[in-house]
Amino acid sequence: MSETGTTPLAGRLKQRIANDGPITIADYMAQCLADPEHGYYMSAEPFGASGDFITAPEVSQMFGELIGAWLLHVWTALKSPPGVHLVELGPGRGTLSRDILRVTGLRPGFREALTLHLVETSERLRAVQAETLADSGLTPVWHDSLDSLPQDGPLLVVANEFFDALPIHQYVNTGKAWCERCVGLDEAGELAFVTGPGQLDIRPLAADLRGAPLGAIIETQPLSNALAETLATRIARQDGAALVIDYGTTRTAPGDTLQAVRRHAYDPVLAHPGTADLTAHVNFEALARAMRVTPLVPRGAITQADFLLRLGLLERAGRLGAGKSPDTQERIRGEVERLAGPEEMGNLFKVLAVARADISLPAFDT
Ligand code: SAH
Repeated sequence: MSETGTTPLAGRLKQRIANDGPITIADYMAQCLADPEHGYYMSAEPFGASGDFITAPEVSQMFGELIGAWLLHVWTALKSPPGVHLVELGPGRGTLSRDILRVTGLRPGFREALTLHLVETSERLRAVQAETLADSGLTPVWHDSLDSLPQDGPLLVVANEFFDALPIHQYVNTGKAWCERCVGLDEAGELAFVTGPGQLDIRPLAADLRGAPLGAIIETQPLSNALAETLATRIARQDGAALVIDYGTTRTAPGDTLQAVRRHAYDPVLAHPGTADLTAHVNFEALARAMRVTPLVPRGAITQADFLLRLGLLERAGRLGAGKSPDTQERIRGEVERLAGPEEMGNLFKVLAVARADISLPAFDT
């Protein structure tokens, strides 16, 4: 069997491309991740040692605890309003919200002020999240999109490894123009990258692409930017803050960051549609620009290492390990390294925050 004929979705995509022509990378990503029947998040078990990848909240409880402390500080800076909504975008197994709620429960008044909202499209993951949060003391409200979030009350929004799953477009430098990179069929009828007719006007992009070599690829993320702008518009109106954590770059630059991961290893992007995770690096420069909605001011992006270390990762690790067995202390040291080590998640992952200018944000302004 051919490499690209290995999944049910591959067959469907080939059929569709044979009928209608090549599809954009954004279309390919959307179908691989969100096809109601065969989409990756709809059917696969992505997370953990037996899954395809491990995210920061799954690496260590310290990640969510430090974010919980950050949120508490912001709530206090907002003058401790009642009726505040904690919103997590793409909560996966629900681990981050669980850890946030555990620490924020320690502050009198905060828990009582909170409602929990989870934006999640996968029914299967909603069930996992319900189970993880069963003992949290709050009953989550699930949403398909931002549109149905409450219209009143401040929003405290957290998104970890959410934007990387949203579809991107790619454009290839053909010498004459930047043409959209698409997924078509090769002579053997297998999925293959092809150059489509759509062209990109590169002038609005911040990057200077004039010297880019032939074949260079530039990525755009209109869906992520639109969603970020919607979010910022809501926060500008209702007050609050947002924290976005993901792997990505702080400056627009050419590069092909589309990647598939399967069973903890990189996989060719077209090899297993629907059964491999498919992501792209987030362009934080573009995301921050989209979130610049008056009176909000984006802060960062800073590296995940800087973010966590400034919030006291080492101190938290020390307290967590105090009096514990050498094995446990070694495990905690390993978690710190994984979250903040420069060769691990520390440098690749970036953190962007947004709030009103007069709200000082820990790790960014202090
Ligand atoms: N934040 C989690 C999981 C990241 S995986 C963690 O850090 O462990 C991406 C998550 O986003 C999954 O829960 C996936 O189902 C969800 N997701 C992907 N695209 C989405 C979309 N367009 N709308 C809502 N949720 C989405």
